[in-house]
Amino acid sequence: MTLQRKLDRAAALAAIASVVGAKYATADEAALAPHLVEPRGLWRGRAAILVRPGTTDEVARVVSLCRDAGLAIVPQGGNTSLCGNAVPYEDFDGVIVATDRLDRVREVDVANNTITVEAGCILADLQRVAAEHDRLFPLSLGAEGSCRIGGNLSTNAGGVAVLRYGNARELMLGLEVVLPDGRVWNGLRALRKDNTGYALRHLFVGAEGTLGIITAAALKLFPLPRERVTALAALPDAAAAVALLGRLQTAVGDAVTGYEIMSRIGVAMCLRHIPGSVDPFPAPHPQYQLIELSGQRADGSLRAGLEEALAAAHADGLVRDAVIADSLAQAGAFWRLRETIPEAQKFEGGSIKHDVAVPVSRVAAFIRRATEAVEAALPGVRVVAFGHVGDGNIHFNLSQPVAGWTTAAFLAEWERMNRIVHDLAEGMGGTFSAEHGIGRLKRGELVRYRSAVEVDLMRALKAAIDPAGLMNPGKIL
Ligand SMILES: Cc1cc2nc3c(=O)[nH]c(=O)nc-3n(C[C@H](O)[C@H](O)[C@H](O)COP(=O)(O)OP(=O)(O)OC[C@H]3O[C@@H](n4cnc5c(N)ncnc54)[C@H](O)[C@@H]3O)c2cc1C
Repeated sequence: MTLQRKLDRAAALAAIASVVGAKYATADEAALAPHLVEPRGLWRGRAAILVRPGTTDEVARVVSLCRDAGLAIVPQGGNTSLCGNAVPYEDFDGVIVATDRLDRVREVDVANNTITVEAGCILADLQRVAAEHDRLFPLSLGAEGSCRIGGNLSTNAGGVAVLRYGNARELMLGLEVVLPDGRVWNGLRALRKDNTGYALRHLFVGAEGTLGIITAAALKLFPLPRERVTALAALPDAAAAVALLGRLQTAVGDAVTGYEIMSRIGVAMCLRHIPGSVDPFPAPHPQYQLIELSGQRADGSLRAGLEEALAAAHADGLVRDAVIADSLAQAGAFWRLRETIPEAQKFEGGSIKHDVAVPVSRVAAFIRRATEAVEAALPGVRVVAFGHVGDGNIHFNLSQPVAGWTTAAFLAEWERMNRIVHDLAEGMGGTFSAEHGIGRLKRGELVRYRSAVEVDLMRALKAAIDPAGLMNPGKIL
């Protein structure tokens, strides 16, 4: 659908800059540069201007001017997303709306266990504010020092505590959104029960900025845990990880908060490249399981339950060795091993990355079958599989063979490897995209793996809410 432009482009850009004030609008190449490139350097786009509105009203006025001039918009939070959704295309000539100045905490309602914040709040700041009120905001991921809650919601971020608390969608109760026509929808209801027709708020979660700009969110809080126990177990294989999870859940219930698997090759890469990394056990093991339990009792019962479950698993051959962290520093070292695997992989040449999920019961079979398939298709490829096994979400990364391949030649295999890994995940009742989203990277995969009915519905929603196609064009669909 084409809409008649009511405003000339140059006049609109000048008016947009004056809405936020000259200090918060820039077309300067150097100032724009970090906002145009995706974190892994996969894409570098362009934009006419970047604006940093400070209020919802300013966002609404900017969007209205864009609508009138037919200027497209890319909303941007921390620009940490890994599928190319936060940066514009190479031929983009519209506006980046950065949310960093929308960073106020509007309300903490301890009795209601909710916090209402603006979209530009950095995730780590939000966690800190919650903790100051003796509450937990449980979303936690490697980029939490720079990603912003609007971006977390727009990608429906997962992270390391989904097993216990759910992903961003499950933590969200209400939203305030500037729609593509410039109207503000105030759906900031901090309610756990609100059955009033279509749950509009859920449309904007995971929408990657294609349906509007989230300006604020009402989010769930939880009691701040009094006890945390972190352990690392050495396992014979991934099947043992799944079996051990079941035993731990039987022993300590939903106290199992984090459950992250790492294969030896990933740990070895950390030991080679990440200063300060320490081999956790005297001998190497095929798999390592990072376990985090948390609870309210602070009487040592969680640690006791964990020790008992690990001892029984050891006796049954599921666990080869295990260590329970005695200090925050030791727990931090276990987590650093897990979180620095992607960083360590960069030193090993090209990586082809997959962010897939299957039912937890099929994780071990998936890792085994996918490993066999890619090794047969590309001899020498090194499988670095790690991640949120408790959610069935595996980052099935491939590092280039040690010899015989240039990085460029290896990366040219991306499509072929995708087909093997994604076909298998989908065929096992899983998904090709677990937590990072579609963006620019996986648009083709969405059409390939989702039914025509599903894609039609998505297109119909997009057309109904953003008929001129101005919001984050070319992303998802
Ligand atoms: C080291 C590292 C670890 C990571 N670990 C995880 C992980 O464990 N789990 C996980 O899910 N992701 C992870 N990610 C990916 C990334 O951090 C998340 O996708 C994060 O939620 C993005 O937030 P952001 O503020 O950086 O958003 P951006 O990257 O700026 O934007 C992401 C998308 O949201 C849109 N957007 C941003 N703000 C708004 C808004 N206010 N309104 C509407 N649309 C908006 C953008 O247009 C874009 O489409 C990781 C990334 C890194 C670099």
